Amino acid sequence: MWILGEHDEPVRKTRKSILELVGNTPLIKLEKSLPEDIKEKPVEIYAKLEGYNPGGSVKDRPATRMIVEAIQSGKLTKDKIILDATSGNTGIALAMVGTALGYKVELAMPSNVSEERKRIIQAYGAKIHYTDPLQSTDGAIIYVRELIEKYPEKYCYIDQYNNDANWRSHFYSTAVEIWNQTEQRITHFIAGIGTGGTIMGTGRRLKIFNRDIQVIGVQPDSPFHGIEGLKYIETSIKPGIFDENRLDRTMFIGTDIAYQRARELARKEGVFVGQSSGAAFEAAIQLAREIQEGVIVFICPDGGEKYLTTALWEF
Ligand code: PMP
Repeated sequence: MWILGEHDEPVRKTRKSILELVGNTPLIKLEKSLPEDIKEKPVEIYAKLEGYNPGGSVKDRPATRMIVEAIQSGKLTKDKIILDATSGNTGIALAMVGTALGYKVELAMPSNVSEERKRIIQAYGAKIHYTDPLQSTDGAIIYVRELIEKYPEKYCYIDQYNNDANWRSHFYSTAVEIWNQTEQRITHFIAGIGTGGTIMGTGRRLKIFNRDIQVIGVQPDSPFHGIEGLKYIETSIKPGIFDENRLDRTMFIGTDIAYQRARELARKEGVFVGQSSGAAFEAAIQLAREIQEGVIVFICPDGGEKYLTTALWEF
């Protein structure tokens, strides 16, 4: 059994910036949290734990690339404020990356996102514009577009829903990590859809590595869901970077089962994640029941901490 300090040399390397800690997240083989019928099958299920990024979510990857590419192209200059609409995790990531690189950050988000998210963003010194919760992230997008029209010189609009640097961040990092971590054995890739950046970028690259790899997107089964971070595409503003034709399949997952699976990961496996991870885990379980054999990887976009005051951890 592995124990800290007995197998590996301690890490001696120092880092020049918090940004060097983005990516290279762990891939964990699940065992104890799998239903009995799957344990007996030659199907392996792995969770990619994006909560290990320094900003606590998968969004550190696109936030870094979107900001760095904006600087390189000249769109983001020192006099400009970074601005975007976000359901929370991108806001945290932009606040962290922007601050680390010396920029001011302002974010628009529905007022009903969890209190933890608001406070973390404020901890990084970023400013929040609250929008109508009934309009979800679409309300925040519309608000930001109005702000940009009013003050075109003041802001650099990151526009994560239409920014190719979003999916490219996963094309160049997430997919390569998964390919190496599974030792080229991955057969199925599962990720929830918010902007679609994770599934588009990772899926594109995995299919270049091996075109037989199945790419499966996860959506909530209703527009009125409680799975923070995921979009019900049918009734939302469609993200420009999302192209359904690049998916082999979409699985629609209910809120209750997503919550249940997130709780099981914590209680049976010691893996503490958010509800969109629970939704992806349920998709992995349904898929494992269908296939004869395979290596399934699903994304856990963030940890469970930011949801402590939500229904997910209310007992
Ligand atoms: N889950 C959570 C908790 C998220 O914050 C996000 C990003 N909004 C996603 C899933 C979906 O990721 P993507 O935007 O890359 O589709």
